[in-house]
Parts: sequence; structure tokens; C-alpha cells
Amino acid sequence: MASQQRSTRRAFLLDVGAVTGVAASAALAGCGLDQPAPSRDGGRDGGRIDGGSAGGGSAGGGSAHGGGEETCPPVTECATSATLPSEWAREADVVVLGTGFAGLSAAVAASDAGAKVLVLEKMAKTEEGGNSVICGNMWWTPTSVDEGVKYIKALCMGLTDDTCIQTLAQEMFKLNDWLATVGVTAGALGVFQPEYPELPGASSVRTWMNKGGDGLWQPLRDAVAARNVEVLYGSPAVELIQDPTTREIKGVVAKNGNQSMNIKCKRGVILACGGFAFNHAMQAQYLPGWPVFSQGTPGNTGDGIEMAQKAGAALWHMNNTLAHIGCFVADPSDPKSLPISLSLPAASILVDKLGSRFMNEKQTDRHGFGHKEHLFFFDGLKQTFSRIPCYAVFDETARKAGAIAGGLMGWYGKHGGSSWSTDNSVEVGKGWIKKGQTLDALATAIGANATTLQATVTRFNGFCSSGQDLDYGRSASTLKALATAPYYAVPVYPLMYNTQGGPRRNEKCQVITPTGERIPRLYSAGELGSFWGWMYNGGGNAAEAVITGRLSGKGSAGEAPWA
Ligand SMILES: Cc1cc2nc3c(=O)[nH]c(=O)nc-3n(C[C@H](O)[C@H](O)[C@H](O)COP(=O)(O)OP(=O)(O)OC[C@H]3O[C@@H](n4cnc5c(N)ncnc54)[C@H](O)[C@@H]3O)c2cc1C
Repeated sequence: MASQQRSTRRAFLLDVGAVTGVAASAALAGCGLDQPAPSRDGGRDGGRIDGGSAGGGSAGGGSAHGGGEETCPPVTECATSATLPSEWAREADVVVLGTGFAGLSAAVAASDAGAKVLVLEKMAKTEEGGNSVICGNMWWTPTSVDEGVKYIKALCMGLTDDTCIQTLAQEMFKLNDWLATVGVTAGALGVFQPEYPELPGASSVRTWMNKGGDGLWQPLRDAVAARNVEVLYGSPAVELIQDPTTREIKGVVAKNGNQSMNIKCKRGVILACGGFAFNHAMQAQYLPGWPVFSQGTPGNTGDGIEMAQKAGAALWHMNNTLAHIGCFVADPSDPKSLPISLSLPAASILVDKLGSRFMNEKQTDRHGFGHKEHLFFFDGLKQTFSRIPCYAVFDETARKAGAIAGGLMGWYGKHGGSSWSTDNSVEVGKGWIKKGQTLDALATAIGANATTLQATVTRFNGFCSSGQDLDYGRSASTLKALATAPYYAVPVYPLMYNTQGGPRRNEKCQVITPTGERIPRLYSAGELGSFWGWMYNGGGNAAEAVITGRLSGKGSAGEAPWA
């Protein structure tokens, strides 16, 4: 428990805080940000966010609210380092949250810079590695920095600072050299090379892989082990410990079972704890449509976003997510519902909740654009995301032709388990696939409009006869009529890789406030607050995670220790 120097309102707030030693939230609730106090040292304004300096350490000015004894009398009560915990369960120079590409790269870089590093991982050891360990482990680099800048800039669509883009391109250009130092061999891959040939700089994209499997992640994990960096598993960070005067991040509160522990971070904290794919409430706040289901690690529930927000961070790229069409989930109300990847039969169409087609079902699906272009459509007249879910509709011939679901991918491919019958009959029996002897009956089963669904199928079957899809241009070879009753429909949800949003960072991976000042000693890396703005070329996350991990590791290790 934090020991307090005085019995004060602030002390009371700290005492009733569920977690020991948390300065930040209590300080904000008490008087730190809303009613800033004159600073103890007379010159540093540690509390303002409404104009002027919001990051600790910048000189000048009193409170923008006038401050002073009238508005926040207990000067020594509200924002002093005396209210930081006096007892620390652990200490390190640099504390890294997460064991993905970003966290491991950060740990390597900080350790190589001479820092004592501690890594906290929310999941058990058997489930370490986040999205990184189960992902495709491919990355891309540009053949020149200038061309890389052009392409990244085009992908980000004005949503990422030029300084960040420049740094990213420079570091990507050199990435394979560094990877070689940790035993990663860049084998030419060639896929997604590029994904957006129309964009400037696209021809400079080269994609890479090391042997396959977890060929990028495992050498990084080995490099961390070789440096004797301690990793605490089953130990999620739940709060940042922030000096309310300087706004420096001085530690983290982590949980281990029912125990809370204050961990002193003498030089810095690196948030490398992934995105918010498994947090439906955040999805609803930030994504253009929801719910979306993920094939990544269920450990990524947006913890780093909440911690950084409490510390005063700006957020960015929260609306950027990468997903495909799509998956089946048995329980759409549960973000951890097993997403079963669908491979739709040739003789099928996708219809919205009403029963209308809305796309070329065979269109090439670049990273993220299956859902951005087609599924995230909100029908204002019906007040619904009319394509979440959409339905794949097919007939008896297609039902018998083979399983409509492939194997599990990603996290669930490694840790989950599911089976799907080869003729889909088990899933029809379970009610996962809806059945109707007629299209009218099928429409009723999925809540669609019977006239609309009938008209949609009749029109599509006409295209199959003529060999021309006049509505969406689907190629003739894929046009197979839905002609044999009974008919079937399976709900299809967006199937996500990962999110890109999180605390905004600068080119040094320092987390910044809405007014651009840094939150001292706080860094972020990887997909949490990624540089990727709106479009995305496959391999970009892995490259960026390693790079931002290294930058934040080196940067935090270079901070002067506060104690
Ligand atoms: C199926 C799939 C395939 C993909 N393929 C590719 C690919 O080939 N190339 C590519 O570039 N990108 C790919 N991606 C995206 C890429 O995997 C991720 O963006 C990248 O791995 C993110 O790395 P990271 O270190 O930022 O996060 P992660 O690897 O997700 O690591 C975050 C870690 O933080 C932990 N954590 C969460 N909260 C806390 C907390 N409170 N305290 C402590 N720890 C916490 C998590 O448990 C997790 O271990 C793919 C994604 C998926 C899901």
C-alpha cells in the first residue's frame, strides 16, 4: 500500500483506489488536471491540458484556470511526488508490456543499451507472443527511403505525421540488417508486393519471411532470453503510476492473480500491449462498424489505450482495422467467440439483412478492404449495419459440394479447436446454417424480405444464364445459379487481423498529449497506436512493431533515471 505523508483529500482518494499506489487517476479526479495547482517548484506546470504545456517538464505559466489557493487549496495535497508509492514490489530501468514483436524488440534494444529490463505479459507462458507469434511473420521493406516515404504517405492518407513516416521508411530500409543480428534471415517472399500498385512508391515494396511459421518472432524471443531479461507471465499491467506534478510515468501497477504490485520504472515504460480487437465496447466507440471478430490473441483488449488515456495521451488511427469477409461466430455477443473462417462455395451470393446483393463476392480482397468497402455500411433508414452480419446464400448442390468453412487461422488455429462437417449437415442441424425449402422460407429464417431475396436470386440466376453480372461485374466463370432447393444461408461477420489505433506517438515513439507534448518516460510500440493510418500493405505491422520496439527501447534506456 502506498504510504501517505498526510491525511488529505488526495490521500483519501488514493486509499480508496482499488489498486495500490496509483497516482494518476486519483490525481485527475482530485485536482491535478481539472484544477491545476501552482506547482511546488514554482515554475513547472504539471497539470494543464487546456492550452500551454500539457506534458510535464515544460517551463512557464501558472494554471490556465487561474489556479491558486482558491481553486485548488491543498497545494501540497494535490500533485506531489510525495503521494507516489513508497513501497515497490519490483524495480527496473525499463518496463515493457507485451511479448509480441514490439515488446521483444524493445526489450532487446533497451537491454543492449545497458538498461535493466522487465517484461510483463498478461497471458500465461503457453500463450505468450500476442498476435506476433501466430501471425504470418512476414514483413516488408522499401528498396529506397524516398520511394518508401511516398508509398507510406499514400497509404496513411494524411493521418500520420511526416516525421513519423520519414523515420519509418528509413528504419524499414535498414531493417533486414538489424534482423540479421538477431538471427533472422530475410527470405524473399513476393506476396503483397505491393498490395496497392496504383499508389506512388508501390514498386519499391519487397516482402520477406524467415523460413515460415514464427520465423520472425522466435529469434526475437531467443534474443530476449539470451540477454537474461526477466518476463513475468500472467501479469497484466493495469495502471500507470504517474507523477501528478511532472506527469512523468514512474511505474506501473501490475496484477498477478489477486495480488497487485507496484513496479518502479526508473527510466521508462513501453506500452507494447497490442490493440483492442477483443473489446467490443471499444469497437463500438471507434470502428466505423461493429461487431468484428478477430483471429488474433484474446489478450488484446485495449488495456494500453485505457492506461495511456488516463495519463493524458491523445489517440489516433482508432478507426483503422484490418478485416476480411468473413467468419461465422456462434455467439456474436461474445468478443472471444471462436471465429470460424468461411470459404464460400462458388455457387453462393452475399446478401444484406434485407436480402439484396451488394458486392462482387469474388473481388480481390486487399488487407482490410473487404469490410471497409462493403461491410461497414450503415443503413440510416433501417437504423442498422445492414451487412453485419450479411448472409452467404447457397443451394442444396452447393451444400453437398464441400465444407464452407476452412481451418482455423491465427490464435484459434494454434490454441482453439473446431470441426465442420464436410457436407455442412451438422451445422445445418445446429441451426448455424439456416435452411428453407423455398427462398421465401429462407428469408423468414434470416429475417430478410422474401420478395427482395426472391428477386435477388432470380436476377443473379439470370446473370448466370447470360454469363454477365450486370450489377457487380463478377467474372463469368464464377457465376453458378442457385437452382436446387432447399436453400441455405449462413451469417457472415468481418474477420479481423488487428486494430491499429492507440496512443499517438511521435517519431521517437514517445507518447504525446492532444497538444503534442510528450508524457515523460512513456513510450509505445507496435500495433498499439501504430503509424499505419488508413490503408495497409501486408507485412507493415511486423516491420513497424520491430522498428518501434527498438526505437522505444533505445529511447527509454537513454532517459536519466528518476531515482
Ligand atoms: C492471423 C494474423 C496474421 C497476421 N499476419 C501478419 C503478417 O504476416 N505480417 C504483418 O506485418 N502483420 C501481420 N499481422 C498483424 C501483426 O501480427 C500484428 O500487428 C503484430 O504482431 C503486433 O505486434 P505487437 O507486438 O504490437 O502486438 P502483439 O504481438 O499482439 O503483442 C501484444 C502483447 O501484449 C499483451 N498484453 C495485452 N495487454 C497487456 C497488459 N495489460 N499487460 C501486459 N501485457 C499485455 C498481449 O497478451 C500480447 O502478448 C497478422 C495478424 C493476425 C491476427
